[in-house]
Amino acid sequence: MKCPSDILALDATDPLSDKRKEFSLPHNTIYLDGNSLGPLPNTVNQALTDVVQQQWGNDLISSWNKHGWIDLATRVGEKIAPLIGAAPGQVVSCDSISINLFKLLASALQLNPQRRVVLSQQDNFPTDLYMVQGLASLLGSERCELVSVYAEDLVASLDESVAVLLLTHVNFRNGERHDMQALTKLAHDKGILVIWDLAHSAGAMPLELDEHQVDFAVGCGYKYLNGGPGSPAFLYVAERHQRAVDQPLKGWMGHRSPFDFSADYAGASGVSQFLAGTPNILSLVALDAALDVFANVDMQQIRDKSIALADLFIKQLKQSSCADEFKILSPLEHQHRGSQVALQHPSAYAITQALIAQNVIVDFRAPNVVRFGLTPLYTRYQDIWQSIQVLSEIMRNKRHLAPAYQVRNKVT
Ligand SMILES: *Cc1c(COP(=O)(O)O)cnc(C)c1O
Repeated sequence: MKCPSDILALDATDPLSDKRKEFSLPHNTIYLDGNSLGPLPNTVNQALTDVVQQQWGNDLISSWNKHGWIDLATRVGEKIAPLIGAAPGQVVSCDSISINLFKLLASALQLNPQRRVVLSQQDNFPTDLYMVQGLASLLGSERCELVSVYAEDLVASLDESVAVLLLTHVNFRNGERHDMQALTKLAHDKGILVIWDLAHSAGAMPLELDEHQVDFAVGCGYKYLNGGPGSPAFLYVAERHQRAVDQPLKGWMGHRSPFDFSADYAGASGVSQFLAGTPNILSLVALDAALDVFANVDMQQIRDKSIALADLFIKQLKQSSCADEFKILSPLEHQHRGSQVALQHPSAYAITQALIAQNVIVDFRAPNVVRFGLTPLYTRYQDIWQSIQVLSEIMRNKRHLAPAYQVRNKVT
């Protein structure tokens, strides 16, 4: 069947349609997995060739100065800052979300020394909860205690016992989006500091960290920012906290003057005190180049298209022959939804495998969710239509019951 003309017309008038050309996407593949690993931006190929052959290969150690490797973590941070509504001097790109959360959690607890509870959500991304558990076993339960509640109980749990509220803005499994401004305000009213995990928001929608008075945030380089596998994460520390914080991973790259090789630690004054060890230059170069894709786009345009893609997806699904087989887990109201649609089905894993076999690349999330990531920079409306066609054909012919689709890979 051919894609209906009204859907093709949406692509023809899409202000972001040219962006797709800036990515190297495999042919005949519909990639709805940019929220797990963004695809390869064309700029990255050239940048990596140059950093390997010219900078590393030829200029060797001099590249730390000559090609500015030494400031790259800060420069990439400054490039991310406008995407998340942060004024300069508050973002660096380094380490992983997990490691950055450790630094921020410890710092935030120290700023709120009369309290010990870190409040989070039961179904937060597990690493966020694990990092609190690890910190609690290091500091002892009298200094750090994880309390995780269901989303609907969060507001009622914000009381004077809580030191830090740690939340992920958009839930990785069901795509539910918190009201960052309202929750930050409620927390502050009770003397609670907030850390937002932006893994499923940065690069997918406008964010206003400064305006919403957020204290700390972390985010991911390899999802919507397309920095590639193992791309460094980023962290945000509001300027007003930078003098008072004292992060525990005191590596030499966070020192005020690392090349004095002084025996005593003295942290840099700004957000760069959150750097620890030598930056991953190859990965940072890739992320730096990938971010050029965002140079001339308006984040509101991205958000508008993301909403339209999801609305089309839901409408097409509801009209399809398999509508009754799936439960839509993601909120239908725009303001409560991130940039994905999650469908629940008891055979979610096998359905994911059957979709991938037909070049519709989606994610399975345990225990029973098929996750469709909607990334406006390169996803077309016709791709949404096509994926629903493929999904309903699979369900109609029960293709997902094939034995090959029942075997779990190590990465699911
Ligand atoms: C992907 C993701 C992470 C990843 O953490 P890393 O330590 O960078 O691997 C963390 N939190 C959330 C919410 C995520 O979606």
